[in-house]
Amino acid sequence: MLGLMQSHPLMISSLLEFAARYHGDTPIVSRRVEGDVHRTTYAEALGRAKRVARALDALGLAAHERVGTLAWNGYRHFELYYGVSGSQRILHTLNPRLHPDQIAWIVNHAEDRALCFDLSFAPIIMAIAGRCPQVKHWIALCDADAIPPALAQAVPGVHSYEALLAAQTDDYDWPVFDENTGSSLCYTSGTTGNPKGVLYSHRSTVLHAYAAALPDVMNLSARDSVLPVVPMFHVNAWGIPYAAALTGAKLVFPGPALDGKSLFELMQAEGVTLAAGVPTVWLGLLNFMRDNALRLPTLQRTVIGGAAAPASMIRAFEEELGIHVLHAWGMTETSPLGALCSLKNKHLAMDRASQFAIQVKQGRPIFGVEVRVVDGNGVELPWDGKSAGNLLVRGPWIASDYFRNDGPSPLRDGWFPTGDVATVDADGYIQITDRTKDVIKSGGEWISSIELENIAMAHPGVAMAACIARPDPKWDERPLLVVVKREGSTLDRDELLRFYDGKVAKWMIPDDVVFVPSIPLGATGKILKNQLRQQFSAGKAQPGA
Ligand code: ADP
Repeated sequence: MLGLMQSHPLMISSLLEFAARYHGDTPIVSRRVEGDVHRTTYAEALGRAKRVARALDALGLAAHERVGTLAWNGYRHFELYYGVSGSQRILHTLNPRLHPDQIAWIVNHAEDRALCFDLSFAPIIMAIAGRCPQVKHWIALCDADAIPPALAQAVPGVHSYEALLAAQTDDYDWPVFDENTGSSLCYTSGTTGNPKGVLYSHRSTVLHAYAAALPDVMNLSARDSVLPVVPMFHVNAWGIPYAAALTGAKLVFPGPALDGKSLFELMQAEGVTLAAGVPTVWLGLLNFMRDNALRLPTLQRTVIGGAAAPASMIRAFEEELGIHVLHAWGMTETSPLGALCSLKNKHLAMDRASQFAIQVKQGRPIFGVEVRVVDGNGVELPWDGKSAGNLLVRGPWIASDYFRNDGPSPLRDGWFPTGDVATVDADGYIQITDRTKDVIKSGGEWISSIELENIAMAHPGVAMAACIARPDPKWDERPLLVVVKREGSTLDRDELLRFYDGKVAKWMIPDDVVFVPSIPLGATGKILKNQLRQQFSAGKAQPGA
């Protein structure tokens, strides 16, 4: 027997309609490529998103066609999120930090019909336009008179976004269709093999937005002012542009200025209560605030994810700055929120050290995401906080396949293998010990590179640390620590290795330390371990320098 409830499909457009109706005057603040700070509201954003939909109609884009974006976090990108998906086209966010060859490959694979870009990325557009013949419309996210002559010459017929919108009205009714329709597309950075496209649906996006807003997740409300440092081209800025509209939270977009000083000033000026980003970005902010003895009294919490948040960073935020850290785990294929670390009632009476020991974990799965940890034979491991195995997930916002996938299905018996190695404890808290490809296999045992990095990062002389496997004739692999020293530090190899005494078993202590001026970061701000492995494979290292 069916229930007797109305059947309304979950539509992305309804999120913005809701925000405009009930939070119409709530600000959306953006630092722009133009250099200034721009202010708009949910009500105005709705009108402009409708103009986007009409402009795409006028350009002849059909339903389901892909509209690429190469853009920073800002109000125009936000309008495209809704105008493109809401009108049943597919928003394809591209990562501008990739090499132009890779961007061209992804644009062609996705068969983008239009591509909208911030002017900072004009050089990329000029490099790829000739190689992407199926893109019919190149749209610069600026006024008509701001289009540089060189761009107009290199890309004949390039449109001005503002001119396209000015030619339209906001008289538009959002179409209503099957909630399982594709809404947005994001390619994984593809550290191995070609990038793979993850195609989200209206249903998965709206359910994920509900989940993101929950108290034990981001705890979003109409009283928040939210700054996603995480780019809108990196898994939809972790869903914040949708979850903020769902709750009516104020949005603050940092544009291209992601250094500690710029972030601090924007957060202070806009009373930001919640910010979200990868650990490497937070290092910049932490250092700036420390060096200048600054505080952000409004900032209550930061979501840190995308890579392991070092224990030292969690402590610094909490103890030095009074900002609560929410450690989160997810991936492009999981929309991305899979687990988030918040304490339970029974943890509240614990001392801070015990609470920190929980906070370094990646947290409990959010309702809607089921997890399993299995060994190499697919046998489920106990949830004892010790048994490490491959992490599998499933749920309504987990990918079922890749876009235009010619290969086999990524699923195993309906579960998505994450490529992460994890433990789960009796309370369901996940701890990621490694990515499968980064784990260090020494004498038949696995050493967690994340654990060794965490310890190094806790040393006051260390600014950044990465631990990689170095081939070893006796043990197969041994850990090598690659370290960027804090400015002015006199730290040496022996002192750092002694720092491990008593913190891990002796055989887990890295064999050696290499000090480097910088560590290479990938397009999403994560350490490029494969590059480090190439650079420091046996024989090439200059240890202890
Ligand atoms: P890519 O896989 O291309 O790097 P993703 O953004 O999808 O891009 O990365 C997902 C991966 O990032 C996860 O599989 C996991 O290895 C890592 N990751 C994400 N969050 C965390 C976290 N809090 N701690 C440790 N690793 C994390």
